[in-house]
Amino acid sequence: VIVEVGSAVKGDFAPGQRVAMNFQQACGACYYCQSGREHFCRQGTMATGAFAEYALYKEGSVYHLPDEVGLQEAALLEPVSVAVHMTEVAGIMPGRSVAISGGGTIGLLVLQLALRAGASRVMVSEPVAEKRALAERLGADLTVDPLAQDVVRMAKGLTEERGFDTVIEASGNLRAAEDALALVDNCGTVVWGGVYPDGATVPVRPFQLYQQELTVKSVYCSPFSFPRSVSLLPKLELKALISGVHPLADIASVLEHHRSSGAIKTLIQPAA
Ligand SMILES: [Zn+2]
Repeated sequence: VIVEVGSAVKGDFAPGQRVAMNFQQACGACYYCQSGREHFCRQGTMATGAFAEYALYKEGSVYHLPDEVGLQEAALLEPVSVAVHMTEVAGIMPGRSVAISGGGTIGLLVLQLALRAGASRVMVSEPVAEKRALAERLGADLTVDPLAQDVVRMAKGLTEERGFDTVIEASGNLRAAEDALALVDNCGTVVWGGVYPDGATVPVRPFQLYQQELTVKSVYCSPFSFPRSVSLLPKLELKALISGVHPLADIASVLEHHRSSGAIKTLIQPAA
């Protein structure tokens, strides 16, 4: 909620307005900004941060919220923007099949967007049972546990033995990144959408890429995605992704336990 507006702000912003924010502000003037690649802006600035009661944002990074969107759901704007960019990069087309590895916030948002983009069959691979159940409730045709089941065999069963038109790796797991190449159909697209450990490698057979005419893509940040993501907020199931809301004072223990808790998205509330 806006508490104060700088004197140089030209837009329609006033104290009391409900907004969501992008933590980055591209300069708009450099080579990358002017060639459609603002996520590689050389002179971008970062907001002062969100794990605080107050934070400072440039007006170009602040977006008015639709009335029907609550502040907690709006806090998911940034992951929604990531899922929007990922879905766009994946080039999901009506009637196509999609596999998603990872049933966390990004994977479950990509699932919702893929279905809205017209995907006809979607499989979600995720080891946590609660997340698989949620993926099914959100519309996944098939969920698999990669630690207990043969993902490739089950995937082939869903796609008449062909594999998927699009495979989106949204877990950051290297094994899943490798498996993505075993799940994709001829002329298909693999999107390595996780943040993988720097320096880690995954075996790739160039002959397979030749033989199947595959495309392997990646995503970095979410350029030009925020206004569209704001307009999608009322259309997406976001409440189900919020596992808990904790006061700012508890942030250290929340971060410490987040990974082992099985939580999807944990929110930090900066003020009462
Ligand atoms: Zn720039």
